[in-house]
Amino acid sequence: MFFWRIISAIATFGMLIYGVFAGTNFNDYTSNYKKNVEAAAYENDFDSAIPQTEIYKMIDSHLKSGGTKEKKVIVIGYDGCRADVVSLYKNSEKSAIKALLADGGHLKLSYCGGVNYPVINKQKTSTAPGWCSMLTGKWAAETGITDNSIVKSNDYLTLLTTEVESKTIDSSAFYVSWNGHFVDEDSTYYLEKKYAEDKNLDVVMLDADNDAGTYANVKADIMGTECSDFIFSIFEYCDHYGHDTGFCINNPDQVKGFAEQESDAVDIINAIKARENYANEDWLIILTSDHGGYNTGHGGPTMQERYTFICTNKDF
Ligand SMILES: [Zn+2]
Repeated sequence: MFFWRIISAIATFGMLIYGVFAGTNFNDYTSNYKKNVEAAAYENDFDSAIPQTEIYKMIDSHLKSGGTKEKKVIVIGYDGCRADVVSLYKNSEKSAIKALLADGGHLKLSYCGGVNYPVINKQKTSTAPGWCSMLTGKWAAETGITDNSIVKSNDYLTLLTTEVESKTIDSSAFYVSWNGHFVDEDSTYYLEKKYAEDKNLDVVMLDADNDAGTYANVKADIMGTECSDFIFSIFEYCDHYGHDTGFCINNPDQVKGFAEQESDAVDIINAIKARENYANEDWLIILTSDHGGYNTGHGGPTMQERYTFICTNKDF
């Protein structure tokens, strides 16, 4: 453990120096990061952070739990949202995190990368490995999704497909705006999309041009009478601003991105509550991120990239 702490400290220091020279660092020191993570008031700490693969179990057990109400799940993905940036919800007027917590929800620290910090991550702290770990409940050591641009074998299907194929639910939908999920020939779920189509399963995988398009697709689904039983949506606000000008909380663009993300998410939650059949439905709502970021990138071993968050309206 000590060895990894040393290696990790060297890696973090190296990236800090790089950041200073790249001019995009916004004083992104680990001490500031820790302070802002603390300000977010998570229920757990770094050492007890939850593996993001837990989300798979949360969704699966909710859909399979008994009761008279119809089980529904929505995941609203905050792509690239750092665990410290989450603290901004506290002073925000329009916040989905605040809304879920007010309903008795929970906010916990989680991690990506296959193993908790400071042990060096076994898979890239990147988009495809992050979301795939949640959707399959397995790390890349099993699925092979160590990075973006790797096509997942159908030996490891996601909940979007398995829950419909097993008839646990009638339908699922995957709403995104990044071509790396299932549009490009080397996208993660390229083969799974074909699998679902070949079997005539009610699994919708819809790619929009941008976040506004993803928002419109999610809203249209929720406002329909036959709303999908399981919706998995991913928004790029934090990730886009992160790659453009920095993932750090001190970057005003990142603050703006988080606000836009929160605004869309709270509108979606309100649309769910406004459903005509809402009283007969039991929704599990999950807000989470796939990875964090450092300077204008991610994939590496820093704390800023490793920790993510999970906010839900239910106990977990
Ligand atoms: Zn991402």
